Amino acid sequence: MNEISEEQKYLLRKLKTKSYPPDIVIHRIWEFLKEKPDDEPLDPMWLDIWNEYKEYAARAPSRVIKEIDKIIRSIKPIDDEIYNIKINDDAKVVFLLGAGASAPSGIPTVDKLLEELWKRARKIGREDLDRLARWCNDRGITNIEDLLTAAYISNFAARNPNITALLDYFIFSGSRTLSEEEEYLFRRRRSLRTTEIDVSSISFLQDTLQTLFGLLTSTMISASPNPTHEAIVNFIKEHSNTSIITTNYDGCMDEALLKEKIPLKGTISGENEENPEAVRLIKMHGSINWAYCDSCQDVKEFDLLELKKTYEMDKLSYPVLGICKKCGGLRRPLLVPPLSFKFLMFPNLIDIWNSARQSIEEADYLIVVGYSFSEADTYITKIISRSMAMKDTQKMIIVNPDYKLVPMLRERFSAHIDRFDEKRIFKACGNSEKILPEILKSILDKKSSTKKKSKKG
Ligand SMILES: [Zn+2]
Repeated sequence: MNEISEEQKYLLRKLKTKSYPPDIVIHRIWEFLKEKPDDEPLDPMWLDIWNEYKEYAARAPSRVIKEIDKIIRSIKPIDDEIYNIKINDDAKVVFLLGAGASAPSGIPTVDKLLEELWKRARKIGREDLDRLARWCNDRGITNIEDLLTAAYISNFAARNPNITALLDYFIFSGSRTLSEEEEYLFRRRRSLRTTEIDVSSISFLQDTLQTLFGLLTSTMISASPNPTHEAIVNFIKEHSNTSIITTNYDGCMDEALLKEKIPLKGTISGENEENPEAVRLIKMHGSINWAYCDSCQDVKEFDLLELKKTYEMDKLSYPVLGICKKCGGLRRPLLVPPLSFKFLMFPNLIDIWNSARQSIEEADYLIVVGYSFSEADTYITKIISRSMAMKDTQKMIIVNPDYKLVPMLRERFSAHIDRFDEKRIFKACGNSEKILPEILKSILDKKSSTKKKSKKG
């Protein structure tokens, strides 16, 4: 496959970051397109840039505008090969959903979520949360998953004072020898800190976590499925050899399936494992309708549709999932930000992660929707890389509006896998709610036509 030249990348960067007068831009684009080798592909980013500049292009010769327009419009955001994909009944299809799949359902992205939560915290007049909000603002912390991770780690450290002492050592003093005076102060501070932690910090942390989770759940509970989820359900009805893995906490995918009376397996309750009608929905980071008791580690799955209904009717008591029936401890939703995975505070999730790994390894087609392969999700990225390396027939369809994602993945796999065939990754650039229904329909249409043929033959 031919590469995008450094010159093209440079030009794109320049055009994206600086606003040049339109006639100069058009001149530079025209120069570049005229001189570019025929086999050098064009980055889909041109579509956006050209749309931005085109309307101001009145001063350029109309022939030039027409020519550029023709060339740029020939860029295809979706690989043609996707429309040639043929699967048979045995092909295992696995969807991997990220935040982009739920965004059109009105769920704020990770960055916006925190802002939304602070707004709600102010409404309920929590002075302590207000203080935390100010602190986060001052330090530019906008990512709710970072905040949850910190809260989890703090909770863990507060219960294990030795861990706090070790953290102190590694982070603050491990690299050098302390003077006698420093050593004295350090010990004194540590003993003071240990006492403080034991008394008030744990209850503050517990309380903050509980409130944050309550707010988080109430932000997500009203969200409903969008065309992405509906397209996946329609696909599953025709191709039952399908599993879904999601990193989203919300209930959109669950609801889309349950509404069609399709039972779920692979959830925290372990129900329906033997039911052949059930679809495996693996929620790697937990779910708003899964509850976890911090005291006795009991987990419980609430009926999602029921939970939604009671919430909408305002019959749900705060803090949303309530008190543990087994021990009387406080129960909160089982939501796990990716960075806290390593702390393994939720033994119940290990089975779920294992089943995600197994599903990915078995997949013939991995359809990745609105998932950004972020640094935080090293676990998922690693199992995908390993699986692509082990099974050289495995293919991926990447549905994502980010133009840079597919080139990045092709590069990454080529670096890690010997003689990696870049055509194993199909690009479908755009918003999933717009393009996924059409892509899945094409795959199904091809599937039924092969079926008919084989029946006739
Ligand atoms: Zn309990």
